[in-house]
Amino acid sequence: MPRSRQMLSVTWFLLVALALHPRAFASGQWNAQWEPAKPVNGSPVLFRITAPKQLTEIKGNFLGQELSFRFSDACHCWYAIAGVSLVTKPGTYTLHVEGKGHGQEASTMSYTVAVATAPYPATTLKVPPEFVEPPKETLARIEEDQVIKKRVFAATLPEPRWSGRFEAPAKAEVSGIFGSARVFNGVKKSQHTGLDFRVTTGTPVAASNSGTVILARSMYFEGNCVIIDHGQGLLTLYLHLSEFKVKEGDAVEKGQIIGLSGGTGRATAPHLHFAVRWRGEYLDPRTLLELRPPEN
Ligand SMILES: [Zn+2]
Repeated sequence: MPRSRQMLSVTWFLLVALALHPRAFASGQWNAQWEPAKPVNGSPVLFRITAPKQLTEIKGNFLGQELSFRFSDACHCWYAIAGVSLVTKPGTYTLHVEGKGHGQEASTMSYTVAVATAPYPATTLKVPPEFVEPPKETLARIEEDQVIKKRVFAATLPEPRWSGRFEAPAKAEVSGIFGSARVFNGVKKSQHTGLDFRVTTGTPVAASNSGTVILARSMYFEGNCVIIDHGQGLLTLYLHLSEFKVKEGDAVEKGQIIGLSGGTGRATAPHLHFAVRWRGEYLDPRTLLELRPPEN
């Protein structure tokens, strides 16, 4: 193709693109980044969006979940945490974002996010038999626990209460990772949906980030359990505690001691099981701890 014709077709392409996406194309100021750069099934994902300056509100949608972005003065960007469920198939998924400003038409943009499969391993465990096949007399208790969990999981604060990085709840070695298939006494039961810290009984357990305590009680499998709501469907869970230092309804700050570790409930030995739940799905806590959201 002669050079002049090539230029002409490039110009035509630009004009057509401009006509199809007037806001996005004309602004040219949209940009998106995410952590981890290569999300897998089970990943929390931190999206950072740079948007045209005149926009005052950014909303998004990823994997069928609505996201509302917060603006940070530190990065001059908008950010939100989303998640990829454990059962999400590998492939490419679209992040849609839409911005609004005073007297402005909505401006939209979309990005393709590739999701890979995580290589989660299998682990074999031995626990007392009553925790694999719970005895009949405990079934009512287990059912009651499920009703309570369903209730607390359904309610979430409309606004985010967390800020900055999520911190490890204990300064200890990790003894069990998220996503591993659990084989209890020779029977495959489930996937491990938390991160285990090797701690002895009585080790202080800290809130990973700020939020409201929506559960602090004893349950059959979880033992003494604390659940913190960080807002917009993001929860952290702390299991098998020996003692509570907070009660339901308490507002807690990041780093505040919420209890002492132990081995209550279904635990092979004292340890802290730390879990992250987002909109009904368990996500990998280790990835959440690695995310670097802006500090304000
Ligand atoms: Zn665990």
